[in-house]
Amino acid sequence: MGFFDAPALNHHEQIVFGYDEETGLKAIIAIHDTSMGPALGGCRVWNYKSEKDAVRDVLRLSEGMTYKSALAGLNLGGGKSVIMGRVRDVGNEAAFRAFGRLVDSLGGRYVTAEDVNTTPQMMEWVHEETDYVAGLSPEMGGSGDPSPFTAYGTFVGIKAAANKAYGSDSLEGKTVAVQGLGHVGIYLVEHLSKAGAKIIVTDIKEDRIKDMLKIKNVSAVEPDEIYDAEMDIFAPCALGSIVNDETIDRLKCQIIAGAANNVLSDYDKHGKILLDRGVLYAPDYAINAGGVINVYGEFEGYSEKRSYARVNHIYEILQQIFERSAEDNIPTMDAADTIAEERIRKIGRLKQMHRSGKRLFSKI
Ligand code: NAD
Repeated sequence: MGFFDAPALNHHEQIVFGYDEETGLKAIIAIHDTSMGPALGGCRVWNYKSEKDAVRDVLRLSEGMTYKSALAGLNLGGGKSVIMGRVRDVGNEAAFRAFGRLVDSLGGRYVTAEDVNTTPQMMEWVHEETDYVAGLSPEMGGSGDPSPFTAYGTFVGIKAAANKAYGSDSLEGKTVAVQGLGHVGIYLVEHLSKAGAKIIVTDIKEDRIKDMLKIKNVSAVEPDEIYDAEMDIFAPCALGSIVNDETIDRLKCQIIAGAANNVLSDYDKHGKILLDRGVLYAPDYAINAGGVINVYGEFEGYSEKRSYARVNHIYEILQQIFERSAEDNIPTMDAADTIAEERIRKIGRLKQMHRSGKRLFSKI
């Protein structure tokens, strides 16, 4: 099968391979879809086993960004980039400036940002060569750490799920289990505590647990015990694929709603099981969109207040997803995909017509 026939290509608009002999930079930028706007997505450094693995990863991630931004109601397309290699070999100024030039060569069709293994410093190097970088530190004129916004969006999403499952979005007295106390988890625990929830936390790093136990209504369990904990709501905020064949029967909650990406190890299989059992799953890319919503603010003059106001919309977006899932009796992930695709079709079409100078109403 030739490259252009590969299923992973899945409607991608453009894939750019960048190589810089001097620094050893090997970068791939994938632009999935720009019908809604510039393709925004982070840059990941990873020591891939093969070029094929790197291509597969960047294509999967960029497509995900198209759906995430479309569903969040943003005027952004989807893209992503990967730099092949180890951070200690490629995490230097020369390599990242070479990458910045590659980004700049696309004239704004792709806008990069931080992702796994990239740092604010690396993005500042990129910024030396291009303006098409988002999420810089506030000192550099950017919107800074997205995690508090992701955490707030996750909290709002948990309330929307509670409203659907219990007929009220009050979390007073509800038990929420939070897996992972990193950048997102710690802020989420604070929101939940203020809302009167009982919180069970876990992390593989004990010092993180110690800090959280100082907060009202927080107790802790060992990392593997979280799946068996007595809880109403499970909020995974650590790793992906943690709802899998081994854990799904252990979870006795009514809701799964957390910030982690790719929570279900097999979307079709586990999504269907949760639907059949009446467990409400808040699709990951809908509930964890707070960070990208915040970064989007940079495209129109950043305001923290406006970002928080926008993040509140995650509540309505999840309501729509839950309604569609119930009406069509389909897993919530499928409902989310359908809503995102509808928006790209309807709004993306308007934007394309506008760009090409066509009139929207040909008879007028
Ligand atoms: P992080 O790396 O800061 O925190 C993850 C935490 O999970 C760490 O404290 C780690 O020790 C813990 N952990 C790892 N394995 C664990 C295990 N087996 N059991 C319990 N705890 C474990 O990451 P983060 O920025 O807080 O993001 C959390 C999740 O949310 C990730 O899946 C990330 O992809 C996703 N996400 C984050 C953002 C954001 O704005 N930071 C945005 C969208 C999605």
